[in-house]
Amino acid sequence: MAEDGGHITRIAVIRCDIVSETCPGVGCFKAFNKRTVHFKDYDRNTEMVAFFTCGGCSGRRVHRLVKSLLRHGVDVIHLSSCMQMDNYPKCPHIEEIKRTITNAGIKMVEGTHH
Ligand code: SF4
Repeated sequence: MAEDGGHITRIAVIRCDIVSETCPGVGCFKAFNKRTVHFKDYDRNTEMVAFFTCGGCSGRRVHRLVKSLLRHGVDVIHLSSCMQMDNYPKCPHIEEIKRTITNAGIKMVEGTHH
């Protein structure tokens, strides 16, 4: 529960394992901390509780980690912008990854800082 007694919204980000080799994730965290772009509608009672890669093609970690996040009460999972954009390797498994999240009954947002 938040200090003011309100609900804490828990969010997580899944990102591309290939892109994570060169990207430390600063853009995602900056956007979250400043509440911009795909994080702009969250209030201060929002916490980033997990930030992890898909585990490599074909997103082998997603199912297991989504199940784990359910136990931790996550409300929303963002797919990082690097999984959506044309100037990164196009993810051939994106639809399957999306289905894994939505089938678990978790709200999904496509994008983080772009
Ligand atoms: S499954 Fe998609 S998001 Fe994961 S490493 Fe492969 S291309 Fe990147």
